[in-house]
Amino acid sequence: MKETHTPRIIPRSDHPISRAMLSPNALKTLYRLRDNGHTAWLVGGCVRDLLLGREPKDFDVATDAVPGRIKKLFRNCRLVGRRFRLAHLHFRDEIIEVSTFRAHVQGEDDAVSREAGADGDAGTGSSRDPRRLVSEEGVVLRDNVFGTPAEDALRRDFTVNALAYDIADFSIIDFVGGMEDLRDGVIRTIGDPGSRFTEDPVRMLRAVRFAALLGFEIEDATWRAVVENAPSLTLSTPPRLYEEVLKLFLSGEGERTYQLMRRGGLFAPLFPGLDAWLAQETEGFPHAGIGRNLEWVDRRISSGEKVSPPLLLSLMFGEYLEEEAARLRGRGFPPQEAMDGAVAAFLGAQAPLVAIPHRVGVGVRGILTLQNRLRRIPGKRPESVPARSWFPEALAYLRCQCEGMGGDAGILAWWERFARENAISVGEKQADAPKARHGRRRRRGKKKNRTGD
Ligand code: ATP
Ligand code: MG
Repeated sequence: MKETHTPRIIPRSDHPISRAMLSPNALKTLYRLRDNGHTAWLVGGCVRDLLLGREPKDFDVATDAVPGRIKKLFRNCRLVGRRFRLAHLHFRDEIIEVSTFRAHVQGEDDAVSREAGADGDAGTGSSRDPRRLVSEEGVVLRDNVFGTPAEDALRRDFTVNALAYDIADFSIIDFVGGMEDLRDGVIRTIGDPGSRFTEDPVRMLRAVRFAALLGFEIEDATWRAVVENAPSLTLSTPPRLYEEVLKLFLSGEGERTYQLMRRGGLFAPLFPGLDAWLAQETEGFPHAGIGRNLEWVDRRISSGEKVSPPLLLSLMFGEYLEEEAARLRGRGFPPQEAMDGAVAAFLGAQAPLVAIPHRVGVGVRGILTLQNRLRRIPGKRPESVPARSWFPEALAYLRCQCEGMGGDAGILAWWERFARENAISVGEKQADAPKARHGRRRRRGKKKNRTGD
């Protein structure tokens, strides 16, 4: 792909995005910026999704107005962000993110030329700019440099994520061939894939997430760079990787994402213990449980139900953890302690890679230890069981086992009836669901492909 600073402009008559498709708040934001003399574009995933006929998760705006100016123009504005200062406009049921055009500043061999210079209100920085910080491994840690609209497009991750909708004339602006890739169903990095993945290894996960979710192909050079750079995923911070893991597996196409991750070598660096176990067989059978469970999660999400992070992680790691717990029981540990030990060891090993929050770990332990109790019916004091914190999730876990393979449907039916007769809701709790940006994103209608937030 040839990068150029002369964009292709697709006039309103040649694309399907109409103003009626935008959220009223996004439209209001764009108009106010425009009416005050600023460039105002809708950018990123929402333009991609609108062009594909999908409902955008959220609306992001890019402008040449600097953060201080945005704050003056909007009373509902809060400036946020350490790495880059962004404006969040708080509406009743939606946050619109407004960011000033920013540059992707690199060393001299960088494919992104900086000749375009500054325009509008925002000034550009230089590669020695103190606002930019790069680690020894080349990972960009801070990137707080304003730029031109062209630079703003070029610093984005994939061509299909770099399209803009201009409120000035309702056209689409394409600096990087994003329209063609969108038409052809291709995920392609902007610029050299190896360098873009070195700067930010999380982009590799984003590539597989978008490919799986949109049913797109990852372009050859981009895919080769994924395979080559996969081990460097561990350079990203563990909390960010945790957030990304939730997006990957709660996207509604978690199973497809999982298969792509394993093929690209992206699963092993995140979950090395589990990956090693997956590579073995148990009693001559490959471990296909994760894939099956993720299909179940996908079905649930596509029917509009929620899957909380503890339930998701239990479904992903349960079989492995049950085996570990069985090993500990074989060494004489009682069942509860064996499961506690297996979960604690697993979370401990994961902590430097994927930071699973403590409360989520507690949930995983609760769901899995309850499985032992659920297997005994009625057992001692069954009435106390539905009151246990993780009972609804534990029952959902059991339901997944029954709908997949090997679960005892009789036991599930017994507990469901018992809970019903004791007037206890067996609907899933929403505890620990991942939050959208600051948890107050606008929700429109019933979402498909939503994470469990
Ligand atoms: P989603 O539907 O998951 O929200 P999205 O494309 O909107 O997909 P966001 O994480 O909301 O993704 O980011 C918004 C936009 O910011 C992206 O479309 C992309 O242009 C840019 N972006 C996000 N993350 C990165 C990154 N790591 N590197 C470069 N650009 C990024
Ligand atoms: Mg988005």
